[in-house]
Amino acid sequence: MADFLDSPDSEFWIALWEREHTTCPVHHGPMNECPDDERDWYPQRRICWPSAQLAAAKRLFELMHKDKPYHDGKEQLWSETPSRATPFHFLDGHSLYLAETDENPDDDFLSQRTGQTRLFGQASEADESS
Ligand SMILES: [Zn+2]
Repeated sequence: MADFLDSPDSEFWIALWEREHTTCPVHHGPMNECPDDERDWYPQRRICWPSAQLAAAKRLFELMHKDKPYHDGKEQLWSETPSRATPFHFLDGHSLYLAETDENPDDDFLSQRTGQTRLFGQASEADESS
């Protein structure tokens, strides 16, 4: 114990422990505020649009492949079930992420092969013709 108290980081670790054990894990304020039912609280929300766009892209990507999620590795032959011909699940090896510029403009992975998909307020050809 003396070794710990003599270490240069001991004050930091003690303060961290005290903060973690006196902060409510639900409302993230001091725990002595929790029993106060006389005080008014105002629920707030914070919106992160990059996170929303990434979540929407993931959801759309999963929706596009829900009926036939397995492919041949070239994404040309698709199947409802895995087989020797279609062993790859559409999520195998994939990670979707955000970039400030389109790093792979030729990889239009969120568009249906049969036409454009409306995403993030972009007008598609199908919308313009209707
Ligand atoms: Zn609380």
